[in-house]
Amino acid sequence: MQITHRIAMKMRAIVVSALHRGRLREMAKKKVAPAMVAFYHRVANSNPNPWTISSEDFRRHLDHFQSLGQFVGLAEVQRRMREGVSANPCFSISFDDGYAENALYALPLLIERGIPVAYFVSTDHIRYGTPFQHDVDAGVPLAVHSPSELRQLATAGVSIGCHTRNHVDFSKIEDPQLIDEQIIEDKDRLEQMIGQRVAYFAFPYGLPAQLKPKVIDAVYRAGFDGFCSAFGGYNLVGQDWFHIRRFHGDPEFSRLVNWTSFDSRKVQMEPHIDYPQRSLFLPQYS
Ligand SMILES: [Zn+2]
Repeated sequence: MQITHRIAMKMRAIVVSALHRGRLREMAKKKVAPAMVAFYHRVANSNPNPWTISSEDFRRHLDHFQSLGQFVGLAEVQRRMREGVSANPCFSISFDDGYAENALYALPLLIERGIPVAYFVSTDHIRYGTPFQHDVDAGVPLAVHSPSELRQLATAGVSIGCHTRNHVDFSKIEDPQLIDEQIIEDKDRLEQMIGQRVAYFAFPYGLPAQLKPKVIDAVYRAGFDGFCSAFGGYNLVGQDWFHIRRFHGDPEFSRLVNWTSFDSRKVQMEPHIDYPQRSLFLPQYS
């Protein structure tokens, strides 16, 4: 009985997978294939928690993405949205927060496979080695990278991105000076730390409550090439390309498979993020 059930489940997975691949192929034929950006936090084989996956699972995720399309950096995701042509599904990998253990498995694997990675960190945590409050509260104050580790990663080709000075929740901040300090000044701070330009900003929490017009305006004024949200979404041709939509890569594999199947209900359900578009910034990318 159990064996029959297992065979039935396997058959179902094969049929579902074929349907998904067919859908992505159709979109590719029309040159409107989705660009998908997954975000992770921590790849480690100890202290499991909801924002950690094992090195084996992470490898499985990468293999899954690779079986469906091509790995690209965030600039290519934006180019497809802006230019309106996306001839194959593509995937981009990002990490938030800067957990030191990512240097054990995830980052060497990405570098070895030549997969672009956007790596978002909060500068005060890096500078002072301060663990995140949610890890302290959980009784496991996990280590973050040191500034010299971050410089080494940048030198190895990892694209370091800004995730504010101390992981602020912009839904609770109205003071324009504080917003500028966490975004505009922090871009400078991070660039000095790593000795390279920082091109992208990722909102801590990344939900519509944080993506307020005046905060996005500070991202523009800072001179970033774009910002990442985290509420879950695809990047499609013709969409606002300054906003890079990401989905959570950390949870169980079935949810990842659901995202990569291109679930059109998720597009219909995507929250609208309203903010003044600054056409002023368009020419440099055209
Ligand atoms: Zn974060």
